[in-house]
Amino acid sequence: MPDIVLTTLNAKYVHAAFGLRYLMANLGELQSRACIAEFDINQRPLDIAEQLLARNPRIIGFGIYIWNVSPTTEVVAAIKKVRPDIVVVLGGPEVSYETEGQKIVELADYVITGEGDLKFAEVCAELLKAGETRPALPKIIPAELPDFSRLTLPYELYTEDDVAHRIIYVEASRGCPFTCEFCLSSLDIPVRQVPMPALLEHLQRLLDRGVKQFKFVDRTFNLNVNVSKTILEFFLARYQSGLFFHFEMIPDRLPEALREVIAAFPPGALQFEVGIQTFNEEVGGLIKRRQNYERMEDNFRFLRNQTGVHIHADLIVGLPGETLESFAAGFDRLVSFGPQEIQVGILKRLRGTPIVRHDDTFKMVYNPHPPYEILQNRLVDFATMQKLRRFARYWDLVGNSGNFIESTPLIWREGSPFEGFMRWSEWLHAKIGRTDSIALTRLMELLFEFLTVEIRQEARLVAPKLWNDYRRGGRHDKPAFLKDYLPEDESKPEPKNRVALPKRQARHLV
Ligand code: SF4
Repeated sequence: MPDIVLTTLNAKYVHAAFGLRYLMANLGELQSRACIAEFDINQRPLDIAEQLLARNPRIIGFGIYIWNVSPTTEVVAAIKKVRPDIVVVLGGPEVSYETEGQKIVELADYVITGEGDLKFAEVCAELLKAGETRPALPKIIPAELPDFSRLTLPYELYTEDDVAHRIIYVEASRGCPFTCEFCLSSLDIPVRQVPMPALLEHLQRLLDRGVKQFKFVDRTFNLNVNVSKTILEFFLARYQSGLFFHFEMIPDRLPEALREVIAAFPPGALQFEVGIQTFNEEVGGLIKRRQNYERMEDNFRFLRNQTGVHIHADLIVGLPGETLESFAAGFDRLVSFGPQEIQVGILKRLRGTPIVRHDDTFKMVYNPHPPYEILQNRLVDFATMQKLRRFARYWDLVGNSGNFIESTPLIWREGSPFEGFMRWSEWLHAKIGRTDSIALTRLMELLFEFLTVEIRQEARLVAPKLWNDYRRGGRHDKPAFLKDYLPEDESKPEPKNRVALPKRQARHLV
């Protein structure tokens, strides 16, 4: 039985907990007395508590994030009721700021704030040494920013099962030099770089073990051009079909040296998450996010026209100073850049972020429950915010999914993508009253009805596009609602070479 259990509730099974592996790798001689137990937020809190208690540990370390704080509070409450002697230590971004008044913090014995990679080991050593008595530790224990030269990298801790079935997270740096007020990473200055030789050695070992998908968690992968170029060249030299690399990039920094190596990757091998958040310069100034929009546009055109990069671009709804009109204009501008995916995120009030300084001026009202999304502000009322929330969800199902690549632009044709999609979004919601659990064929049928009845496009022109979209996912049975508008004697299409990429990205590529 281990003395220490490291645990967290991941958002999904495929997300292997990177933070826990860092803690485990840096436990030193305590590592042999510890184990990792991962769960996901779809499991019942009491079942999780039961499994943790069955290991009979002396210490349980929980990783707390915005997506798991509510169910984890239930898990901790149950454990402390049944076994109050088990020491509960919390860590993670959700308990690193504004700890006062948090239910889960009240229930826990200790909270390590900040990057706890080394501090967790120190705290465990003290707790185990003290035995039955409690050591003289404060409840809230701030961790000093650890230097990478002192950290053991955790990649050996990915199991064969992780390699085969889960997303493998890696990092080349921590922190971000920018100061966007809504973002926790803006508090992480200075940026620290993982020593390159050690990182490349680990990446090689992961490749040798058969890892196909790498997700870099660096907040600004292209900040240091030499580092990003070295890593990209490393992967390019070892590229094999089916490899997939995800990076978060700042959109207005893509010097020629990087462009060359990016353009050399085959289509679909790279995914860039590109945060734009707003096209409104006044809003950018208010939230201390300054970007060069001309350079950004030029970079987008380069990526779309001269590379096979899959672009996932982010915009945020509800920022202080952003009106419905300015958001709509930004959305339309982004659509014109042609990214494969646009994530319309709803502003969250993350603990510790300086965005709160706008609360009074812009009458920002946030949901008190995680993930603390904005409900309304001075410029966008609650009803409009709800419409935008639905818009975001339906955009994900239709615009981003890769299931409607040819038919999505029919929703707005020559007009404003935002206005057209908002009309479809409200029509769809009035029809079905929900934003989830919609079968793909049903969604397609509803889109066909919207396009041909509601906005009166010709069925014989719309049907082939929907039919192409339908087949893109590998289906060949003609849906009844399309049959009358498609040629009867159409021969079966040649089966497409399936691409060994994540499903959504593969559909965009086909
Ligand atoms: S939003 Fe991106 S650029 Fe801005 S502080 Fe956060 S990580 Fe850095």
